[in-house]
Amino acid sequence: MPKNLNMFSLEGKTALVTGANTGLGQGICVAYAGAGANVIGVARRSCQETADKIAALGIEGQHFTEIIADLSDINAIQHVLAESAKAGRVDILVNNAGIIKRCDAADVSMEDWDSVINLNEKTVFFLSQAFAKNWIADNKGGKIINIASMLSYQGGIRVPSYTASKSAVMGITRALANEWAKYNINVNAIAPGYMATNNTQNLRSDEQRSDEILSRIPAGRWGTPEDIMGAAIFLASGASDYVNGFTLAVDGGWLAR
Ligand code: NAP
Repeated sequence: MPKNLNMFSLEGKTALVTGANTGLGQGICVAYAGAGANVIGVARRSCQETADKIAALGIEGQHFTEIIADLSDINAIQHVLAESAKAGRVDILVNNAGIIKRCDAADVSMEDWDSVINLNEKTVFFLSQAFAKNWIADNKGGKIINIASMLSYQGGIRVPSYTASKSAVMGITRALANEWAKYNINVNAIAPGYMATNNTQNLRSDEQRSDEILSRIPAGRWGTPEDIMGAAIFLASGASDYVNGFTLAVDGGWLAR
């Protein structure tokens, strides 16, 4: 690697990524492994596919560890903390796990509302708090990257609980950055545009909505997990040490319209 790119290296770092078995979380795990980090993936289901993709990179000494946890249960946070400590100090936390419920605002149930807010918002805050407490105590800093959304900026259609949660993610990112930047903890977010993952399966199979969305994306295509890799590495690396509280859109130009 040319010397001036060393600032992007994650060698010697350990990154914990939630929602690591598929989609954007899987892409971020592979990106971090490729940049030299050891990776801990948290998911409800096995992360074997992610482990295989990382193994295929053929990086000697690279470790991938999985922790099975349902992050909709706030008690899972202590389990994740304890299990990850076995793999050593976590330096980078990516709050990626998230769900979306599509429903007319008039019909949203309280149960669905709570399930989205609990995972997308409450767990993001308290998992960040759990790691930041350790980082403040050991005074070695850390990186938190939250996965926001276009609906951190916009209202969206038929996804009000998701919009509420992702708007909160952008606010939480700023609030935590304000308190923790002085401890060398960088809290930032990535706002993906419309990406081809399970999250958008229903949207992409609705021909009319899919056409509407595609025609509005300046890049003219859905994003992929690969598209998010550069921003994720940047925000986890020394290259972003003076970037605090910012939400970086990776959206093919959607917000520029
Ligand atoms: P995805 O393929 O549906 O992935 C979501 C991930 O979250 C999966 O690994 C999923 O695991 C995990 N997860 C869900 N509920 C969980 C729980 N209770 N405990 C632990 N893990 C849980 O969708 P994605 O697009 O990669 O989404 C990743 C993040 O990006 C989400 O926060 C999403 O809101 C955000 N995002 C996506 C887009 C997009 O266009 N795709 C745009 C903006 C933001 P399971 O397989 O077990 O469900």
